Amino acid sequence: MRTHDLDALVLACRNLIDLRFPDSDGGAAAMLTASGEILLGTAPEAFNPAVEVCHETEPYCAAHRLGESIVATICLYREPGSPEKVLAPCGVCQERLATHGPGVLAAVPQEHSTTPGWVPLRDLMPHYWLQAFDDTPAMWTSAEPST
Ligand SMILES: [Zn+2]
Repeated sequence: MRTHDLDALVLACRNLIDLRFPDSDGGAAAMLTASGEILLGTAPEAFNPAVEVCHETEPYCAAHRLGESIVATICLYREPGSPEKVLAPCGVCQERLATHGPGVLAAVPQEHSTTPGWVPLRDLMPHYWLQAFDDTPAMWTSAEPST
């Protein structure tokens, strides 16, 4: 994957936050597909937080709608006056992304840096439960070990 693809992904996510939440706190997610498309999303709030969804939900569903494979994902959150936060995928989003394979790159926070780091899903899920079964999809059994 080209570095400028990941840079464009970060920028697209930041731009969505700028446009949607210019004066308030807010978050967004962006996912890069194998064809190079960037899918964006942000999650609405609800009176009952238990029914809210992750920012990643919209681009994840869009990839399914379009028949696209996800190759990278980022979720950012920003409060006015505070540094931007890089949010690694939660457990539910990791489970969803697993259907796109262990090589999906996820943005993670980096210490002493304002730019995100990129970690393949296999490194976020080194003991993924699915691997315990004989019929584990080949994408997970033939996963390259992390370097
Ligand atoms: Zn999530």
